Amino acid sequence: MALAGNVDFSTGLSLAFLLLMQTHGEAMMALITRLYPIGRSITGAGVRETLAILKEHIPLDTHEIPSGTRVFDWTIPQEWNIRDAWIKDGAGERLVDFQKLNLHVMSYSVPIQGRMRLAELKDHLYTVPGFPDWIPYRTSYYNPNWGFCLSENQLAQLNDKEEYEICIDSSLSNGHLTYGEYLLQGETEREFLISCHICHPSLANDNLSGIAVAVELAHQLSTKSRRYTYRFVFVPGSIGAIAWLARNEESLSRIQHGLVLTCVGDEANLTYKRSRQGNAEIDRAVAHVLGHSDRPYQIVEFSPYGYDERQYCSPGINLPVGCMMRSVHGTFPEYHTSADSLKFVKAEALQDSLDKCLKIIDLLEHNDNYVNHSPKGEPQLGKRGLYQGLSAKEDRREHELAFLWVLNLADGTHSLLDIAERAKLPFTVIRTAAEALAATDLLSLGTTANL
Ligand code: ZN
Repeated sequence: MALAGNVDFSTGLSLAFLLLMQTHGEAMMALITRLYPIGRSITGAGVRETLAILKEHIPLDTHEIPSGTRVFDWTIPQEWNIRDAWIKDGAGERLVDFQKLNLHVMSYSVPIQGRMRLAELKDHLYTVPGFPDWIPYRTSYYNPNWGFCLSENQLAQLNDKEEYEICIDSSLSNGHLTYGEYLLQGETEREFLISCHICHPSLANDNLSGIAVAVELAHQLSTKSRRYTYRFVFVPGSIGAIAWLARNEESLSRIQHGLVLTCVGDEANLTYKRSRQGNAEIDRAVAHVLGHSDRPYQIVEFSPYGYDERQYCSPGINLPVGCMMRSVHGTFPEYHTSADSLKFVKAEALQDSLDKCLKIIDLLEHNDNYVNHSPKGEPQLGKRGLYQGLSAKEDRREHELAFLWVLNLADGTHSLLDIAERAKLPFTVIRTAAEALAATDLLSLGTTANL
């Protein structure tokens, strides 16, 4: 272990590291671009194709749950698959074409074929008012229905006189709900859950961004030493998370921390939604990392509306799982429309989301408790060389304070995060001070990372 004189409090990033980070952002964009055209829903071939592609990146297991299986208060629905769909004019021209964009068909549309006039068709057409070029994303999973989604401009081309040929070549039949899971074993059985939904068709931010960040996170964590075991779940929204919880109820107590990743690729600032517990260690770790970053952010309280944190934080489950996002669902115009396209997500934003997740995980991996062996009066730091190497630093005062705070609160009951919060200093500075003190006779590890 280094003497204090060799302690490096530097937070500067090398150029090589910055270039590497850029590469990760581009890699995530490439994965999103590859997954974007696939017609996903809560079940069906699109989900399997998506998981097969993810399997090229991480060795995940796929699980199939038969239609009709009871999962808590829900039942796994029939499997939906779609081959083609269109609205054709009298000349046989496709005015609305599923082959051009899968958003054109309401997800879970029952099959239909026939000819009808606009008056009859109108109840099954959906647009985005106010955005004439955009096409909405609609679903009807549990209420048998059919529908086409189109732009206001496309709708304006339809008239009352003409008869249109319509076709939705879909099938609903007993099959399976498919989800993916990847377990990255750590030194202990205590788990960190990373969850994202995989059921949306051609929408980039919601939630191909979450999938891409989760995959890259798995890559990066696989190269690091880990105390926690990391469990990545890739599930269809709501029903998939409910099904996963129902099948894993026995082992949920292993989960110490969790993050739902969604809408993490757009250029908005990061938003973190707290877990239902409100002040769980994950909530505090995220608040600390975002609070000590150089970018604006917001933290919102838990509410039982949103993504799969709704399921993980349902009262009978109540896991410490928060939600990491940039733009918040339902609050940005592009949400659930064709404007949530590949252009809406950026490599830099994905990289920033990944970077923050890694920092949060790094904090939780090292949130140790230490014990001060010289608690009567302040110990003399100078004679142990602890001030060497600090003199040249502009932030010397901060690091001196870090030594004093660690020594004062290292009574075995305070974690490093407790100390960092109380000292109002970055966790990294507190941790570095603790490690330097632990290299002398003054401090030793009490308990590790609350494990
Ligand atoms: Zn969504």
